[in-house]
Amino acid sequence: MSKVVIVTGGARGIGEAISIELASNGYRVLINYNKSKERAVELMQSLNIKGYNVDVFCADVSNSSDVKKMFDYCLKTFGTVDCLINNAGISCEGLLTDISEDEWDNVIDVNLKSVFLCSKEALKTMISNHSGSIINITSMWGVTGGSYETVYSASKAGIIGLTRALAKEVGPSGINVNAIAPGVIMTDMMSGYSNEDLKNLKDETPLMRLGKPEDIASLVSFLLSGGADFITGQVFGVNGGFVI
Ligand code: NAP
Repeated sequence: MSKVVIVTGGARGIGEAISIELASNGYRVLINYNKSKERAVELMQSLNIKGYNVDVFCADVSNSSDVKKMFDYCLKTFGTVDCLINNAGISCEGLLTDISEDEWDNVIDVNLKSVFLCSKEALKTMISNHSGSIINITSMWGVTGGSYETVYSASKAGIIGLTRALAKEVGPSGINVNAIAPGVIMTDMMSGYSNEDLKNLKDETPLMRLGKPEDIASLVSFLLSGGADFITGQVFGVNGGFVI
């Protein structure tokens, strides 16, 4: 039977590319969305027409009750969960002195608490199966720190700490936990950047281009494959050399 994967925020941007890549590779995919219902349903239909086994589920991944319902639905529909891609996230820009407590709480809840909540649910099944893989999408700013993005950087650095600690904790249960730290990837998240900002970012990138969602999806595919079986607790930069 093909493996079952949940992709959080899987209806657009990097998550959409991951959903498409994994469905095309024969995974049964549960695409999580929060606000993008139309895009999620359209994506599901386009993949179902090709014969891929894909379903969608609406859940705010920062909400424990929604997360529990999503995993219950996954188990009811597909019978198990083999892989979890914690991709959902939001950006937050501004000087630390201008960030409100509510903004802090929201970014930490959506970007970091969601990884805790979803991993906790996934592990119930993975530990009893003595097998599983969790991939967390962090950011190069979680590695280096990004000026004007302190809250976002803190949330993404938290994911890195969680990834390393959890890999140690669940390795003996046959479960791999890794993180991917994208550089600048052209999605809606970058829509606030001017053409000049984007050109400057491109010029600062040794490979002289900005990233595509597919650049992340192909690494996810490798990390879920048998070829990556001995890899855990690692953080992979995919940034065209922006951070070396
Ligand atoms: P995006 O196009 O803005 O997509 C964000 C995704 O997160 C959407 O699918 C959205 O779903 C989902 N999401 C947000 N809040 C959610 C919630 N409460 N519950 C469930 N889903 C939620 O951004 P992206 O560039 O694809 O980003 C994907 C991940 O990559 C994020 O974790 C981001 O931090 C990380 N990343 C991106 C870049 C970049 O340059 N683009 C760089 C480094 C890291 P709905 O639309 O359904 O709400």
